[in-house]
This record gives sequence, C-alpha cells and structure tokens, in this order.
Amino acid sequence: MNCEVCGEADSMPYTCSRCGETYCVSHRLPEYHECTGLAVDKANREMLRAEGEEVPWFEKGSGKALTEDSATASRNSKMDLWPDKILLLLIISIATLGAGYFTLSLIGVIQ
Ligand SMILES: [Zn+2]
Ligand SMILES: [Zn+2]
Repeated sequence: MNCEVCGEADSMPYTCSRCGETYCVSHRLPEYHECTGLAVDKANREMLRAEGEEVPWFEKGSGKALTEDSATASRNSKMDLWPDKILLLLIISIATLGAGYFTLSLIGVIQ
C-alpha cells in the first residue's frame, strides 16, 4: 500500500479512520493529508453553529482542541444567551411575587 499523499510505500501503512485511505507514518493524521472526512466534519460543525446549536470545543474521543476561531465563536454564542436568561429570571421572580401577593390577598392578609 502506498501513501495517498507522497506515494511512499510504507512497511507499516496507516489507514485513516475518517476517509479510509492509506497513508505513511508522517501523513497518517487527518491534518496532514487534507482528509475528506475531516472536511465533512468541519462543514457539519459550521452548519450546526450557523443554526445556533451548541458545538463542543473538543472532538469526540481525540481530546484535541479546535482552532482558536471556533473557540471564539462558541464563546460569542454563549454571550448571546445571557440576556435571555436574565429576562427569564426576571419573569420567574415577578410571577413568584405576584402569586404570593395573590395568595395573601385571597386569605385576607392584604386588603
Ligand atoms: Zn506520506
Ligand atoms: Zn483521512
């Protein structure tokens, strides 16, 4: 089996688990052979992020950090969620206060 990138015949060829092609020891990593599986993966992540979905910073199992860009994008999307949470908390506390007042007035504590 020859490496798909440099054509070198290796005695210990590696098969990429993402694209299924064969590579030598120096081209075995997806980053070093322009892996099609990696490109699909990246496209999927970009698509999910565009739809506002939470995308993990780390790839499953590999523990490899994504690029700085994706980390920043993920942080930004978290920031956007803040006002929603604050609004929700506000509504909950107003509703709780309202319900308490209503109960008290119902049993005649507050006229
Ligand atoms: Zn190679
Ligand atoms: Zn590959």
